[in-house]
Amino acid sequence: MDSSKQSIAKVTLALLLGLQVLTVGIILLVSHYWGESAYLKHVSGLMRTVATESVQSVESLLVPAERLANTTRALMESRVIPREANTELERYFFEQINENNNFTGMYFGWVNGDFLQVAHANKLHPDNPFYTKFITTKNGNKTSIFIGRGDDFEMLASHPEPNDTYDPRDRPWFESLIKGKLQWTNPYLFFTSQIPGITVSIPVSSDSGEPIGVLGIDIEISNLSYYLSKNQLSANSSAFIANTDFRMVAHTDIDSLTLAQLNGDSDFRLIKVDELRSQVIEQALEELRASGQDFVSTTIRDVDFDIDNKPYHAVFHSYRKSGLGWTVVVTAPESDFIGDIRAAQYWKITIAIAFSLLITLGAFFLALRFLRPVSELQESVLRDSLTGLYNRRALASLGDEMTKESHRKGHSVCVAMIDIDHFKKINDTYGHPIGDEVLVSISQRMLRVSQNSDMLVRYGGEEFALILFDADLAVATAACERIRKTVSGNEVLTDQGLITVTISVGVVEVSGDDNYILQSLSLADQALYNSKRQGRNRVSTQHDVCIL
Ligand code: GH3
Ligand code: MG
Ligand code: MG
Repeated sequence: MDSSKQSIAKVTLALLLGLQVLTVGIILLVSHYWGESAYLKHVSGLMRTVATESVQSVESLLVPAERLANTTRALMESRVIPREANTELERYFFEQINENNNFTGMYFGWVNGDFLQVAHANKLHPDNPFYTKFITTKNGNKTSIFIGRGDDFEMLASHPEPNDTYDPRDRPWFESLIKGKLQWTNPYLFFTSQIPGITVSIPVSSDSGEPIGVLGIDIEISNLSYYLSKNQLSANSSAFIANTDFRMVAHTDIDSLTLAQLNGDSDFRLIKVDELRSQVIEQALEELRASGQDFVSTTIRDVDFDIDNKPYHAVFHSYRKSGLGWTVVVTAPESDFIGDIRAAQYWKITIAIAFSLLITLGAFFLALRFLRPVSELQESVLRDSLTGLYNRRALASLGDEMTKESHRKGHSVCVAMIDIDHFKKINDTYGHPIGDEVLVSISQRMLRVSQNSDMLVRYGGEEFALILFDADLAVATAACERIRKTVSGNEVLTDQGLITVTISVGVVEVSGDDNYILQSLSLADQALYNSKRQGRNRVSTQHDVCIL
């Protein structure tokens, strides 16, 4: 009984702990994934914002240049500022680029090859912040003058530049004369600085509508990369701008944007996207293609993809204006945003499960400690204090129940009354304590011989009841006979020597009526009485009673 209780307790504990882990685990995982998916939605919104901001940065760089080009043309055509190469026009260009650091230079190229440019000085001209290039042609003679200027337009240096090969008509931006409208060049190398940039250019006409030349404003494309890196989203995010030919215009990592230059500026080219050999970019483009969308589009698009089982997100947003078709691509690994949260979540789950397990274990053992005395008490109430056998109370509370259950299963049940013969004489001869010893010893013997499923009860002084479950009268009689022989077969060893003990038994089958045990016990008692009358140390059955 005790060991089965223990195993029930173990199974219960295991089940409880398992259930605990499962419940806590499920709750945490569900809340974890809900939390994550909500956060990831927020991340994709964030990436769209960054892509939008990057496009706005491009606009904020290009649109003022376009606006200035349009305004200047209008001012020149209406003669508010001169159309001739003179100091007044130079000063106007100076003021514009002085106000806006994003414009590298502003200039006008006339159709006869004359040229007036004001530019931020680069490392080629370290002695002055601005410089002017002034090319004039008179009677077929070309003169080129360099003027270094300070912040207040003061002249800091001036000298002729012999052998100047510059001719505005050869330059990429001059093509807008043919197109007849404002346009942006593809990126190319600026003549003096050899820095890659783009130029917005617009033709200016005479009063008769004939083009007199082209106005140009330069922007270095490193400015675009700078604007992208300013919008950097996370540690491992990157952004780039590429045109419709998949040529890189800008990249957050400015160093990775190596611009191939072969022989001179005419062979200058931007590297293509695939030349970057970036798995993230290639995968993002692949995913965009797979979803059937164009690289340059009027809509903002996003894709998700995996690299080495690591999830990434990419957002595509395009800038389409003044002949340009540029797309900003922002990519970032999910772990940048969720990594720390995820690590914290795993800790949270582990700690929560560990704590809840500890609490369950504690509660379980506490309950066991408190329950043990209760169950021990319950057990002792049903036991006889001398022999340890079940007592009459147990017989009343358990015997009936178990008999009913056995009958329900279709098993027959028998009950035997057992009485030690001439026990009074043992007491009288050896004394009461030896009598007790004998009682204990006989009880143990009978317990040993009877079946585990049988119920042996100390019914009264030296009287016992034995209920035999799943036994018909023949089987029960044989069992009782075995018990009788075991008792009488060997004398009982006591402090006062060996004592011969015999028992008399009356055994009957329990009927299906109510008050099963009580009725059957009285019948068994009658059979026992028969054994006594017949000379003791024997087993009688209900049939012997009937003969009487
Ligand atoms: P019979 O063969 O007819 O049963 O003779 P008997 O002497 O066994 O019968 P009786 O009922 O006259 O005597 C039973 C005795 O058992 C009386 C009582 O003192 C003794 N007895 C009852 N309970 C205990 C006990 O717990 N310890 C001891 N030592 N003796 C007990
Ligand atoms: Mg007796
Ligand atoms: Mg008796």
